[in-house]
This record gives sequence, structure tokens and C-alpha cells, in this order.
Amino acid sequence: MTLPSTVDLHMHTQASDGSLTAQALMQAAADAGLRTVAVTDHDTVAGLDAAALAARTHGIELVAGVELSVSWQRRTLHIVGLEIDPDAAALRDGLARLQSQRRERARAIAIKLEKLGDTGCVRWVEETPDNQQLTRSHFALRLVGAGLCPDAKRAFKRYLAPGKSAHVATQWPALEEAVGWINAAGGTAVVAHPLKYPMTRSWRHRMLAAFREAGGRAMEVCSGNSDAEAIHTSAADAEAFGLRASLGSDFHGSSQPWIRLGRLPALPENLRPVLDRMR
Ligand code: MN
Ligand code: MN
Ligand code: MN
Repeated sequence: MTLPSTVDLHMHTQASDGSLTAQALMQAAADAGLRTVAVTDHDTVAGLDAAALAARTHGIELVAGVELSVSWQRRTLHIVGLEIDPDAAALRDGLARLQSQRRERARAIAIKLEKLGDTGCVRWVEETPDNQQLTRSHFALRLVGAGLCPDAKRAFKRYLAPGKSAHVATQWPALEEAVGWINAAGGTAVVAHPLKYPMTRSWRHRMLAAFREAGGRAMEVCSGNSDAEAIHTSAADAEAFGLRASLGSDFHGSSQPWIRLGRLPALPENLRPVLDRMR
């Protein structure tokens, strides 16, 4: 039996929708036996400095990361950037744009939810600090707290998912553009959780081809809760499209308690890992 990997390149702090501070997350990473981790908050690099500081005290290597929401063929995809320079101008400007779109979307969702009975939702959005990225998970937790839903999964099913009463369709930056920001910041663009998007196999292949064409270089082959079949499917995709392999739990803490930090199976040996030093 192969030991679980000591690498986990996808996780969230309170700067987006994780439940842990950067410090607590690095403590949890150390406790889970991880040696190399990437913090990849949604559309922000605000958690990276604190994470780097905490990682150092635990002897963990922190890879600077981010998870961007992008639009492709009228779908939303998530692209992780690894080993980015968070101060690079193109990325910084792109993040500023994403953050203002996120804010607008949050306001629009809040107006809908308020009409559906979540009193005070608009004010809650207005009072959230600007450097806090509001995701749909935040609304889900709020709906649970307000007693309008028994749990976050049902909040998505009932209100927040596409086609539901409080869903707000957003035109995120184009895939090509976002990959360009990551590359301009010296990073590597990675397709996050490629099997999580509601698309057929042939659409997924079209997506991976477009990503590669745009200058993307890697994809997640092991994601949180991937089973052997999913890893096999993604490994075959990575090989077919000439993409490097990444692995990441997508840990969010208590807001998604079914996902554990680390303990990911090692990457298949025939694949080229996203970081050269993982060889
Ligand atoms: Mn999330
Ligand atoms: Mn994601
Ligand atoms: Mn994520």
C-alpha cells in the first residue's frame, strides 16, 4: 500500500469560505502530517501572508495559491493558480475585478433572499468587510443559521444552485484571460476538481483542450474524496491532454465537514507532478 501524500495543494481559509484562520489551518496541516501545502482562497490572496508566517513555524512549505472563478462556454469553472507572485500587476488587477463582481453578485443574491424571508441579508452583505470574499457557501450557512434550511447542502438545492430562486448568474472573466493572469504572475494554472462540473465527458475534453490552448499547464488528478475510478479517469485525461498532475483536498473546515485535510493518495507515477520538486 502506498502511503498518503504529504502534499495538499488546494485549501481555504477565512479569507474566502474556509472556517479556519490561516494560522489554524497551518496548525491543522501540521497535525495531518502535511509537508507542502497551497492556500487557494476564492479570488483573493489576502490569507497568504498569515499562512506563510504560520507555515514557517510548523516547518511546512507554503505554496502561494489562489482559486479563480472563470466563465467558459456559459459555464463556471474554477482555475487554481500555484506558485503565483501575489503582487504581480496583471493578477492584482484581475483579482480586483473578480472581487467587485463577487460583491455585486452578493448584493443581488441578498436582495432575492431578503424577499424570500431572510430579513437583514442585504445589510449583512453591506457590513461584511471588503477584503472578505462572499461566496454562496456564506449565504448557505446564513440560511441554516436563520432556520430557513436544515443544512448547507439543502440551502444550495433550494435557493442557491443554478435555476433556484436566489441564484444569480454571473459572467466571470474568461478562462483564457484568467489563465493569462496566472501565467503573467509566474504561476501554473491548474483545472480544479475537473470531475465536479456538470458536463459530459466530451465537454470535459473540450474544456481541457481549451484550457491547454489558453496556456494552462496542469489539472487536479486527486481531489477531496476522489475514489480510485475518478483518479483513473483524471489521470487518463492528464496524459491525453499533456497536463501536469496536481492534488488537493479542497478543504474548507467545518463548512464542508465531509472533506478532510490531506491524506490524499499519491499521484500515479507515470504523470508529471505540477511541482518539479514532487518527483
Ligand atoms: Mn469554496
Ligand atoms: Mn472550487
Ligand atoms: Mn476550492
